Amino acid sequence: MTDRYQTFTTTPLGKTLVKNLGLPDPTPLPRWTEGSPVIDGPVVFGAIGETDAGKAVQALLRDIGAAFSTVTEGVASSTIRPKAIVFDATGATSTADLTSLQRFFSPVVRQLAPAGRVIVVGRTPELASSPEQHIAQRALEGFTRSLGKEVKRGATVNLVYVAPDAHEQLDSTLRFFLSPKSAYVDGQVARIGTGPLVSNDPSRPLAGRTALVTGAARGIGASIADILARDGATIIGVDVPQNADPLRKVISKIGGTELLLDVTAVDAAQRIAAHAQEQHGGLDIIVHNAGITRDRRLVNMRTDAWDAVLDVNLRAPERITKHLVESGALRDGGSIIGVSSMAGIAGNNGQTNYATSKAGVIGLVQALAPALAERQIRINAVAPGFIETEMTAKIPFTIREVGRRINSLQQGGLPIDVAETIAWFADPASAGVTGNVVRVCGQSMLGA
Ligand code: NAD
Repeated sequence: MTDRYQTFTTTPLGKTLVKNLGLPDPTPLPRWTEGSPVIDGPVVFGAIGETDAGKAVQALLRDIGAAFSTVTEGVASSTIRPKAIVFDATGATSTADLTSLQRFFSPVVRQLAPAGRVIVVGRTPELASSPEQHIAQRALEGFTRSLGKEVKRGATVNLVYVAPDAHEQLDSTLRFFLSPKSAYVDGQVARIGTGPLVSNDPSRPLAGRTALVTGAARGIGASIADILARDGATIIGVDVPQNADPLRKVISKIGGTELLLDVTAVDAAQRIAAHAQEQHGGLDIIVHNAGITRDRRLVNMRTDAWDAVLDVNLRAPERITKHLVESGALRDGGSIIGVSSMAGIAGNNGQTNYATSKAGVIGLVQALAPALAERQIRINAVAPGFIETEMTAKIPFTIREVGRRINSLQQGGLPIDVAETIAWFADPASAGVTGNVVRVCGQSMLGA
């Protein structure tokens, strides 16, 4: 689906009307392309004191070849137009330190380049060493979420909480949030814990890994397959037999194997495990992307529509995960990724079945993350907002138009935005990233 309104706003007449009538002005968002740098402009770095996290951030900026300047007393050179501003707030030990946020950001944020990035690094509040530190760190969430609503022109603001002694785990997450890979992730909080230190080639982080992607024939699933393959994974694409042709097209482009089955079939998990073992010797990544909607308000909801949505979106991922983990088909060190939805967080009129299933996916992440950590298996989920696919093309025009605009970026996301977020979760270097649910929604106002 093309966003005709956004296209119109780039014409001379569109520009005039947007300006004079104060209409939404969605800035086209650049996406990452192979061979591009992580970030293509200067970075301004600030901090509250010298910390391990701050040192890790600066080491990464050097590693990716970013031109960065350090600002200690708040005023960045007015000649710099930063593409990113990174602020290490892990050193905030009490609310007195929150003063630094205003002092540092007020002058520098107005110079942020279009489609710029703001990243605040904080200490996980629940793991703070004192109540005072907990309070100050928790306050960062309000700051970043509000700043996300203030910065314009396609810029994003995100918060990364890092656990004590987990600063060495920051790299893959910072690379993601700095780059155009996170184009549609805005106003989010990511949490990083400790884990084994994995150093891999950031241009092929999934080399030698096998990834199962359900619902891979089209839409978001096809893009996930594409992006994970770009990152080096061998793909097992799953979809229903009716979608054999489009699935073949996806897989023939990227290599890998196809598996035609309905994920709700009683033997689906066993067939997936057998296919993965026989064709690929096992599995490293599972992406539960297959999903359906059967919208009706609850008073008119038919039993079959209720059951179909719960079966595909929640019960199948739950059953398949259980079998692949218990049978050992998913290797230790693997990564499981659920696809939830903003509706699972905010609820949605006419979607009690869908929202139940998608909130359940969040439950799956939260319930399994601690136990799976013993085998160094990670589980996370994305919660997409309005993404331009066949699913959202079916939404009536006016509701669709509202869905596209009521977020900080004033536009819908693309399947690749969800896929890139999943690739960050799947990256073995994201060893400290588990139990996260990250929205890919342009900071939608719904459920915020
Ligand atoms: P889509 O309808 O375009 O594609 C879904 C794919 O899943 C199709 O290829 C379909 O054949 C497959 N599938 C459905 N039921 C299956 C089953 N029983 N077994 C195997 N395959 C099955 O949908 P999409 O927009 O690409 O959505 C992908 C995922 O993202 C879904 O889980 C959806 O709920 C979620 N999501 C989408 C949006 C959005 O805006 N598009 C927003 C939030 C969440």
